[in-house]
Amino acid sequence: MTTTDIPTPPLVYAGPCSAESEDQLHRVAADLAAIGVRHLRAGIWKPRSKPGGFEGVGEPGLRWLRDVGDRYGLQVGTEVGTTEHARLALDYGMDFVWIGARTTTSPFTVSEIADVLAGQELTVLVKNPIAPDIDLWAGALRRLIDKGLTHIAAIHRGFSVGGEALLRNLPLWTHAHKLRSLLPDIPLLCDPSHISGDSDLVPIIIHEARLRGYDGLFVEVHPHPATALSDAAQQITPDRLRELLDSTAPNPDSNAVDEVLSNRLTELDRLRIIIDGIDEEIIRLLSERMQVSGEIGRWKDEHRLPHHQPEREQHLYRSRTELARLYGVSPQLVEALYHTIHDYSKKHQDDDAPHR
Ligand code: PEP
Ligand code: MN
Repeated sequence: MTTTDIPTPPLVYAGPCSAESEDQLHRVAADLAAIGVRHLRAGIWKPRSKPGGFEGVGEPGLRWLRDVGDRYGLQVGTEVGTTEHARLALDYGMDFVWIGARTTTSPFTVSEIADVLAGQELTVLVKNPIAPDIDLWAGALRRLIDKGLTHIAAIHRGFSVGGEALLRNLPLWTHAHKLRSLLPDIPLLCDPSHISGDSDLVPIIIHEARLRGYDGLFVEVHPHPATALSDAAQQITPDRLRELLDSTAPNPDSNAVDEVLSNRLTELDRLRIIIDGIDEEIIRLLSERMQVSGEIGRWKDEHRLPHHQPEREQHLYRSRTELARLYGVSPQLVEALYHTIHDYSKKHQDDDAPHR
């Protein structure tokens, strides 16, 4: 075996949603180190939607984290939501910090935290904001880059778009992928725990992230998920993580996914997760098509050409139905679809046109 045959281990950040006790951190750190994980995450200050829940152990947890990091040779880090958190994280020698979904939403707070972290060596990871606003996410990353921070990564943790859904936060994979075009050099990690909200669904999200070329994972792992003080439903054990990393690294036909299918996720659920991703792609393409159609309309206006051009329209229907045959889709369906699309496209050009 040459060195190039050795699969690169995925970048994995793992650990409990919250640091709960020194003993809990020791147990999880020992187990994670044993399976080759190099980065231990644990929330010290927990941003809770409703007041009155477990809000984290606070400053003592930083010392626990630093101690277990030194003992097991792990890089350790926590979430920072204020400048005070960022200062304390530096004081206690955190190797990395992350900016949570709620904080990414506020450019003021991100800027203030960036000022505190300016010029430091530590890694800063930025979760996407709660709403599907990719510019806001990229903006937060840029604020850190502008302060001279060089170890930066992004975490996709899904978006809240309202309504009942199988997943806690919708991944909107295609939409999230726009971050890659805005910041191509920033590693992109997937947080399957906050996307799924359910430990049974974590494997399928890891599988999907892997197929989409994510650079790594940011995953919640707890020695006893059922007793966790926060996010109990979505945390997995270190053993489970080991199985998932084994089954997703060399072999794309993950056993773990099959196991989930026979477990709680029905075949119908699995197919719906896939079809939701396909529909998102269709709608994104329609949006792109409408934009180009608008540009075509403006070009026609400038050159005083009519929007409606029957020979082009005939060509469009003919060529699209041929493509339908090529792809094994009903030509009648594609023709009907293009009548609808094209009618809207013409209407879009007419509405946009200056009076002439
Ligand atoms: C977390 O990672 O524990 C967390 C609070 O995540 P998010 O900011 O994605 O909700
Ligand atoms: Mn959590």
